[in-house]
Amino acid sequence: MVLVLKKGYDQKQLDNLIGWLKGLGVDTHLSEGRYQTILGLVGDTSAVDIELVKSMDIVETAKRIQEPYKNANRKFHPDDTVIDIGGIKLGGGHFQLIAGPCSVESEEQIITVAREVQKAGAKLLRGGAFKPRTSPYAFQGLRAHGLELLLEAKKATGMPIVTEIMEASHIPLFEDVDVIQVGARNMQNFELLKELGHLDKPILLKRGLANTLQELLMSAEYIMAGGNQKVILCERGIRTFETATRNTLDLSAVAMLHEMSHLPVVVDPSHATGISRLVRPMAMAAAAAGADGLMIEVHNDPTHALCDGAQSLTPDAFAQVSEDVQKILPIVGKRMDG
Ligand code: PEP
Ligand code: MN
Repeated sequence: MVLVLKKGYDQKQLDNLIGWLKGLGVDTHLSEGRYQTILGLVGDTSAVDIELVKSMDIVETAKRIQEPYKNANRKFHPDDTVIDIGGIKLGGGHFQLIAGPCSVESEEQIITVAREVQKAGAKLLRGGAFKPRTSPYAFQGLRAHGLELLLEAKKATGMPIVTEIMEASHIPLFEDVDVIQVGARNMQNFELLKELGHLDKPILLKRGLANTLQELLMSAEYIMAGGNQKVILCERGIRTFETATRNTLDLSAVAMLHEMSHLPVVVDPSHATGISRLVRPMAMAAAAAGADGLMIEVHNDPTHALCDGAQSLTPDAFAQVSEDVQKILPIVGKRMDG
């Protein structure tokens, strides 16, 4: 971080500022030019509140020259992170399909869908048990029973499961879950993120509805700062002025996140568009943009789904998406292996 000091600054105020920074573990380097005086901050400045610094009387402007995320930063970890989920690799050339219904509805439903998506190439099974619904009157998920049914589907198919957590007190229920999902609405539930940072389990972190990429990486940083380095980022569309689609799929996020971070990035074209017929083109575009995987909603009977039927693919449509996506993977140097 560099600070430009106001002309004619007061030496006592400067000494106070330097002393305060020292207390935060940050050294300084003063450079007095003819027209401007610059104070360079040396060391880890992540504990320095830039807005507070900018508000100080003697400070004209302040600028970060290094990102505030360290663990998630590509600069400090040049190699792609590969996440191992029960022997299934995701990231760094390993591409995976995560598929399943929006919500777990019954044992028969989840096992039927699991078998179908597995046949089509999906290695990981998704399904919501605890559902974050906009309306309190909408189906809220089967909750703990839903987790039991997911584990039944895992037993029947051998597929690792991915499911959403909504609060930290539920962590013990998720002991046998392979990948814990943090949904868009909880991306900045910092207490939850901190608790997940103490686990040794992959976390699929979805981008918030109106969050920047830096904010997404800062949320990943919350998990990683606690010791858990197994974070998978997920672009699932953001709120814009467009209403023709449920959200706006920000595909440039995939390429940009790969520059900013070494963490794998998956794309969810189902929640991004909200329209099942748009899932195939957006899935192919995401693969072409370099995504490390896709999370796609699939239902055996979309018209009767208890949640998100309009964006859910039938098993046959999913099989087609899988086939088409696999044609793109060699072009971007990825493979859908175990
Ligand atoms: C989901 O994946 O089931 C979900 C609720 O997604 P999001 O958090 O992206 O809305
Ligand atoms: Mn859904």
